[in-house]
Amino acid sequence: RAKDQGRNTYQFYTEGMQDREVSRLELDKDISQALAKDEFVLYYQPQLDLRDSSIKSVEALIRWQHPRRGLVQPMDFIPLAEESGRITDIGHWVVMAACKQLAAWRDTPFAHLRIAVNLSGRELDDEHIVDHIQSSLEANGVPPDRLEVELTEEVFIQNIEHNMNQLTRLHHLGVHLAIDDFGVGYSSLGYLRNFPVDLLKIDRSFITDVMERHDDAVITRAVINLAHNLGIEVVAEGVETAEQLRFLKNHRCDLIQGYFISRPVPADELEKALRSGKLEYEVPVGS
Ligand code: C2E
Ligand code: MG
Ligand code: MG
Ligand code: MG
Repeated sequence: RAKDQGRNTYQFYTEGMQDREVSRLELDKDISQALAKDEFVLYYQPQLDLRDSSIKSVEALIRWQHPRRGLVQPMDFIPLAEESGRITDIGHWVVMAACKQLAAWRDTPFAHLRIAVNLSGRELDDEHIVDHIQSSLEANGVPPDRLEVELTEEVFIQNIEHNMNQLTRLHHLGVHLAIDDFGVGYSSLGYLRNFPVDLLKIDRSFITDVMERHDDAVITRAVINLAHNLGIEVVAEGVETAEQLRFLKNHRCDLIQGYFISRPVPADELEKALRSGKLEYEVPVGS
C-alpha cells in the first residue's frame, strides 16, 4: 500500500481522486493523534537585519515528527488540514509553542528575539484565535511585540470585514503583522492603505533569479521602495547566494531570510549557531 512507502504519502494519495477521501480521513485522524502525542515541532529560520548584521527575528516553521514517516514537511499536511478544518487546532498549538519558546529564552542571550508564526486565512476565520494568542502570551508572560503573525495576501482580499477586525485586534494587542509571499497572490495594493501592516515579505520567486532577470530586479527594487514609502519594513525571502544578499543590501532591503543565512533548524541548533556568531554575517558594502 502507498501508506507504507514512507514520506510524501499524503501528497501521493491526493494525486488519485479515488483515494482523496481516504487520505483526508486518515490524515485528520493522524493529526489529532499527533497533537495528543506531541509529535509536532517548530523549526526556526533566522532573519538577518542588513542594517546592522544582527539576528532579531526568526520564523517558526512547523514539522511533524512522524513515528514511521520521519520528518514530514508542512506542504504534506497543512493544505489538507486547511480543508478538514484541523488547521485550527494546529494553529493553536503553534501559537502556544512559540510563546513557550519565547518564555524559555527569557534571561538568556536570545531574549531579544521575535518569533513570527504563519497563520492561514482559514485560521483567521476562527473566532477564538485572537483570544488564544492573547492568553498564550499572558500565560507565558511574553510581551505581545515579541510575536509576529505572517499572513498571505488572500487574508487582505477575502472576508475583509472579519479579517480587518481580527487584525486590528491583534495590532492593538501589540502583535506585529507581516504580509507573507508578497507579490504572487493578488495585484490589488489598496489593502496596504487600510490594514495595520508592519512588515512585507517579498516572495522567494522574485529573489531566485534576481541577479539574472532584469524584470525580477526591477520588481524587487520597486517593492522595497513601496514598502519604505508606506513606512513598512521589508524582508526578502529565499536568499541563497552572497550576490543576492549584496544586491538586496545595496537596494536598502531591511532584512533577508534564506538558506544562505540558515535553513530552518530546531531551537537548540539555532541557539548554537547564534552563540557561535556565524549568523551575524558581515555584509561588504557596495561590492
Ligand atoms: P512560508 O511561510 O513562505 O515559509 C518559507 C518557506 O520557504 C519554508 O518552507 C522555508 O523552509 C523555505 N525557505 C526558506 N529559505 C529558503 C531558501 O533560501 N530557498 C528555498 N528554496 N526555500 C527556502 P517550509 O518550512 O517547507 O514551509 C512551507 C510553507 O508551509 C510556509 O511557507 C507556510 O506557508 C506553511 N507553513 C509552515 N509552517 C506553518 C504553520 O505553522 N502554520 C501554517 N498555517 N502554515 C505553515
Ligand atoms: Mg511565512
Ligand atoms: Mg513566505
Ligand atoms: Mg508560502
